[in-house]
Amino acid sequence: MRTTVYNINEQSDDEAVFALTSIKGIGEWTAEMILIGSLNRPDVLSYGDLALKRGIKKLYGYPNIDEQLFAMLKKRYTPCCSLASMYLWKASDKSFENYYTDFDKWNAVNNKQNIQYADFLYGVKTTKIYCRPTCSSKIPKRENIVFFTDSADAEKQGFRPCKRCMPQLEYYDPAVRTAEEIRLYINEHFRLSGLVADTACKTNLSVSALNRSFKNVFLISANEYIKILRIHEAKKLINRTKKNIADIAFEIGYESLSSFYRDFKRLEGKAPLKCKK
Ligand SMILES: [Zn+2]
Repeated sequence: MRTTVYNINEQSDDEAVFALTSIKGIGEWTAEMILIGSLNRPDVLSYGDLALKRGIKKLYGYPNIDEQLFAMLKKRYTPCCSLASMYLWKASDKSFENYYTDFDKWNAVNNKQNIQYADFLYGVKTTKIYCRPTCSSKIPKRENIVFFTDSADAEKQGFRPCKRCMPQLEYYDPAVRTAEEIRLYINEHFRLSGLVADTACKTNLSVSALNRSFKNVFLISANEYIKILRIHEAKKLINRTKKNIADIAFEIGYESLSSFYRDFKRLEGKAPLKCKK
């Protein structure tokens, strides 16, 4: 009785999605939109929403938008995920650009602002080479610069890509690439205990360098990311299997039950068995 639509207002978001999707014809995305639009739930972030994914890509420059990255973002935005969704939808809009005018673009290039996710390229008329705004080469004179929306636009006008910043590749930022490599490795192996040291070894980084690279791009430590993935997995196992809590905690890499309970409570706001639908 707990998870039918008749008492939906008393249910948690997860339970409400579960109750709605048990109705024929309602999928997870539709259920989540009902939660945001009709039930005024403040903390919903829909993994199935393509526009949200576009917005995240555009805003942060993350190359892979997977379920694990979503679990991480959900923790970052909680308790205001529905509001974050509105902003991400707006950011995904093609007409929404970060740099409206050539004057803004020039200022960004010239002042070396934080333009990691800038959505334009610039070319130098004298050399016929085009660059990302983040390129470390010498800033050209304003009168020699021309702006492009993307590499196809630059090449159509006879410009060649810079060898240093590789503007023809969609994602080249070495910091993002390193952090993403770490993240994908963690996605595969988060169930192992002692994972951070192991990941550091695999990626040829020291533990502190690994944590720094990860945090610079994803804004949380690699350790915290591992905890988020483990608790995310624990929730699935609690709902989809008959395993007991101790077995689940051990299976997802915890060596002590008390730290599992502590992390679960901190990240989910309630005890593990209270999450059972
Ligand atoms: Zn360049």
